[in-house]
Amino acid sequence: MELPVADPGTERGEGPLIQCPYCDSEAMHKLAQILLPGLAAVCVDGTTGDLFRNPSVVAVDLRKEMVDYITQRSDTFIADALIESEANQDGPEAEMPDDPFEIISIFMDDFSSTKRNIIGHVSGWLLSDSRDDKIDDFVQEMEMTKFWPLERREAIAEVLLKNVDLKTKFHCPEKYENEERLADHKEQCSFRPVVCPNDGCRAKVSVRCMKDHDAACLYKVLQCEQGCEKKLLRRDMDRHCVTVCPMRPMKCPFGCDSSFADRDLEKHCAEFLQDHLVKVLKAIHKKRSEEELKEIAQKLEKFDADGKLAKALDARPLTNLVKDLEAKMKG
Ligand SMILES: [Zn+2]
Ligand SMILES: [Zn+2]
Ligand SMILES: [Zn+2]
Ligand SMILES: [Zn+2]
Repeated sequence: MELPVADPGTERGEGPLIQCPYCDSEAMHKLAQILLPGLAAVCVDGTTGDLFRNPSVVAVDLRKEMVDYITQRSDTFIADALIESEANQDGPEAEMPDDPFEIISIFMDDFSSTKRNIIGHVSGWLLSDSRDDKIDDFVQEMEMTKFWPLERREAIAEVLLKNVDLKTKFHCPEKYENEERLADHKEQCSFRPVVCPNDGCRAKVSVRCMKDHDAACLYKVLQCEQGCEKKLLRRDMDRHCVTVCPMRPMKCPFGCDSSFADRDLEKHCAEFLQDHLVKVLKAIHKKRSEEELKEIAQKLEKFDADGKLAKALDARPLTNLVKDLEAKMKG
């Protein structure tokens, strides 16, 4: 015979256990982010083709309904999952999603499908670009009017996250019999939020997620990816690399096949001066043969005592110099 297992807290007559309140704040934030487009989709699908209602008219009611619906579904999620896995014990392992974002998205889709009007049920509409555009527009409108502020969505997201986080990957499962012991735990809880130490970043991140955050944090100072001397924020990296980085790859302005780092342009122009001269001369003396042009190029370089030619870094200044020198050589 099996004895019933008593809750250790109630056994000692100390009341229910207190759960650690911490959860992965970035995951909560991410979940809060998907609620807005979720609601927008419901509102757009429910009013498309309806001359008398537009998304913003139905948003207040649908928001309440949607929040109630997904909160309820998330409430019973773990119990439902257990029943389902019992029922499937002999059969093949049922595919249970354990990603909270996937689970909540499924709930939102289920809710949305009950709200679609006739046009919303046409499959072409559901996959169309104009639906996506309408949803994006409505998300923007709601953001601008602060219809559903982030803090409010985060409060809901926190409840949802804890409810569906079957494997406690995103929230702390620890429970304690009194506030004191909980307080001790909270000081070292791996889910406790800390502010990102990177200058300018104000993200609050669970200690255990700090490494991942740091690896993607836009305010992290990094060495230039293209290998120049500069250190810069991750968020500025792409722009730096294509606009000002001295190591950014560039093509020869005279049209050689070779490409090189931007800072090596002068070196390239000095090294390939003869080739560049021939290209420029070809445009000036259209009827001369390649051999003749090469000869002129050599003469020009010899005549150019102060090495001005090699310092011309583009076709126009080189052409002008060549014309000057040729005139002097004749004179
Ligand atoms: Zn904890
Ligand atoms: Zn950060
Ligand atoms: Zn650089
Ligand atoms: Zn070149």
